[in-house]
Amino acid sequence: MSLFRTLLAATALAAAFATTAYADYPERTITMVVPFSAGGPTDTVARLVAESMSKDLGQQIVVENVGGAGGTLGAGRVASADADGYTVLLHHIGMATSATLYRKLAYDTLNAFDYVGLVTEVPMTIVARKDFEPADLKGLIDYVKANKDTVTVANAGIGAASHLCGMLFMSAIETPLVTVPYKGTGPAMTDLLGGQVDIMCDQTTNTTKQIQGGTIKAYAVTSPERLAIFPDLPTAAEAGLKDFQVGIWHGIYVPKGTPAEATDKLSAALKKALKDENVVSRFAELGTAPSPEADATPAALKAKLESEIARWKPVIEAAGQYAD
Ligand code: ASP
Repeated sequence: MSLFRTLLAATALAAAFATTAYADYPERTITMVVPFSAGGPTDTVARLVAESMSKDLGQQIVVENVGGAGGTLGAGRVASADADGYTVLLHHIGMATSATLYRKLAYDTLNAFDYVGLVTEVPMTIVARKDFEPADLKGLIDYVKANKDTVTVANAGIGAASHLCGMLFMSAIETPLVTVPYKGTGPAMTDLLGGQVDIMCDQTTNTTKQIQGGTIKAYAVTSPERLAIFPDLPTAAEAGLKDFQVGIWHGIYVPKGTPAEATDKLSAALKKALKDENVVSRFAELGTAPSPEADATPAALKAKLESEIARWKPVIEAAGQYAD
């Protein structure tokens, strides 16, 4: 047999083996990395979806929280993991903003990952500690302008959704404020409840229970319309911040080079999870909804990431705020 034919036969054999190897995927536990602390909004979304996908895949998906550096540590961890379908990343809009905010990242955002699909788009709320003086958003703006050196804004680090929302808020009111970074807004919420920080912008998947329980003060939602769960809470636009809208989209990624059989199965399991009654009703209670089925696909997430990098790049460059 010529060398060429031998190589051809070996390649065909390897391909056949790879197909067989992944026909039974998944055969063991899958790790879902959440790049923020446990108990926060991204973690909440991940655990609901992971639980449902586990049922469909017949293997446990275990959530691992790798917080720090605005989500870039967790993303980096997945970028360098084995591309075998057993490590996945659930990340949000920060995947796109970090690509510009960090001039040096340990991974190449557009080339280090393959895609599974979009999960949900979560509105944010502008909230404060319960006893914070201002009564409404206009009052809040006046107050923070007058006390800009002492008012503290919690966020989950540069690249986090809370950072983006806070940055947009400060730029809308043309007032820089003191920021306090955490590894996630789960621990930031603990400090907001304890009165150690003043204000925060965070996903409804973290703030809903506290707003409804009256343990924090809410000023506005960042969605274009009011939310059914908070009919009395105005949108930021209604309350005085024209065009202030932020939606925190979430997606699931795998390391680049993951076999298509694995990503296809993950994507199919994601589609089912987004129709799971428990996921749909828990999402609704938390002010959000699953992404449409057509978006729970690799192509839709890839297109979203690319368009969002392009959308936020000029905004971040104009703000001139970089992590490094
Ligand atoms: N809400 C956080 C953020 O600002 C992330 C988290 O803790 O889930 O991105």
